[in-house]
Amino acid sequence: MERKEFDIAVIGAGPGGYVAAIKAAQEGLKVCLIEKGYLGGTCLNVGCIPTKTLLANASVYHKMTHAADFGIITGPISFDYSKMKTRKDGVVDQIRKSLGGLLQSNGITILRGTAEYISPREIKVKGEENVLVYAHKSIIATGSEPLDIPAFPCDHKRIFNSSSILEQTSLPKTLAIIGGGYIGCEFASLYAELGVKVIILEALPSILLLQGKTIAETLTRAFTKKGIEVNTNVMVEGIDYAGEGLSIRLKDKPPVACDMALVSVGRKIISHGLGLEKAGVITGDKGAVVVNDKMETNVPGIYAIGDVTGKFLLAHVASHQGIIAASNAIGQEAKMHYNAVPAVIFTMPEIATVGMTLEQAQEAGFDAAIGKFPFQALGKSVATRETEGFAQVVVERKTGQILGAQVVGHEAATLIAEMGLAIANELTIECISDTIHAHPTVAEVWMEAALLANDTPIHFPPKVKKG
Ligand SMILES: Cc1cc2nc3c(=O)[nH]c(=O)nc-3n(C[C@H](O)[C@H](O)[C@H](O)COP(=O)(O)OP(=O)(O)OC[C@H]3O[C@@H](n4cnc5c(N)ncnc54)[C@H](O)[C@@H]3O)c2cc1C
Repeated sequence: MERKEFDIAVIGAGPGGYVAAIKAAQEGLKVCLIEKGYLGGTCLNVGCIPTKTLLANASVYHKMTHAADFGIITGPISFDYSKMKTRKDGVVDQIRKSLGGLLQSNGITILRGTAEYISPREIKVKGEENVLVYAHKSIIATGSEPLDIPAFPCDHKRIFNSSSILEQTSLPKTLAIIGGGYIGCEFASLYAELGVKVIILEALPSILLLQGKTIAETLTRAFTKKGIEVNTNVMVEGIDYAGEGLSIRLKDKPPVACDMALVSVGRKIISHGLGLEKAGVITGDKGAVVVNDKMETNVPGIYAIGDVTGKFLLAHVASHQGIIAASNAIGQEAKMHYNAVPAVIFTMPEIATVGMTLEQAQEAGFDAAIGKFPFQALGKSVATRETEGFAQVVVERKTGQILGAQVVGHEAATLIAEMGLAIANELTIECISDTIHAHPTVAEVWMEAALLANDTPIHFPPKVKKG
């Protein structure tokens, strides 16, 4: 087996690994990036990008079906899902090619194959390339994959996971989604917008439980209004084939009939088969590689980033951890901070959060208050007929420091960036209300929410003062 020596070897070319590789290569180091599948990892190939491309298709269809509200006369509107899928494949392909070029332009050696440590400094690569890599430092960025449930394994014909469902070229009449986390909810939104009857089956008392009560209740209401059936506190025991469709067996409840099922019950960390024991790297809960805030594992010179660390399971967190790990690997001191991590759920309406909810702030001992402004009261939202939802800031009363923010509504994903910047830089609500926001824009919602948090609203009725 050919032996190649590198300063840094990165295992996994997802948004964690490829960003770490670029950062290290830019510092002049000799870097290899080992990937057993496609460049871009989960995010580009079966995660963020394909789902958002399909959701963009659905959003255009949604807008067109409401064209009459804007005085636009159309004929009958229909769509061809196989063409939507082809567009999705095209987008992924285009970005994948650009990524290949970008890595090449940074002088990174891409090794195609499965990596396995045989010692802390040696990695065997088997596949298209068969190489023994000697790396002075290495970064584990092997990500995660859909979690399969042995009681109802995916057959990828009628029972799908979040990866295989993306390969479908037609839509069912009824889709049951097992699991009401953010991935299940995004698929629910997508399919419902395209006219599929969607039934969510969630074992917990609420969908999106991790996102807090306000968000969970708001989305449940919006979903119910759209005709999505949200069933909580239901335990799926099995899935039976029933004619052309499926029958989903529930504990102590009648079965649910559907044409197709999506199992979306969580992600499995990929730390198995990597030879971590030969490298001496310790894993913890659910196989997550244990790291400190410098993304160092217990073995000097070996770092881990992204989903494999089990921290946030978000692409932008993986990328940021990649920068931190690469910086430390090249001798620059850098630490991860998780107090201002934005998280977006691309449902319709969109949901975005950063920092603490009011409940979390109070539990953490802050004397906290919120300023909550509805899009209904914003000129731009009324003009575009996007009045659903609200934006709210969570602030510490005494100092006015912004501790968190939540948005539900159109453009929530873009809007949350301003609050991410505010929290990361410890800004106060005065910083926001004193900043001139262009009119008419949805970004004005933050200025209004900040004014409300300060009890000095301009475009909202003042609180009735007692006495
Ligand atoms: C349906 C869906 C939608 C999502 N939407 C969003 C979103 O909108 N926003 C967001 O922030 N996040 C989203 N995510 C999550 C996001 O995709 C992940 O958090 C992100 O991809 C993690 O990046 P990573 O680099 O840690 O791992 P991954 O992207 O999983 O990449 C890991 C790579 O390592 C490779 N690999 C594994 N083992 C080996 C080995 N032994 N040798 C060589 N290569 C190996 C894999 O083939 C893979 O390419 C979504 C996920 C899913 C499933």
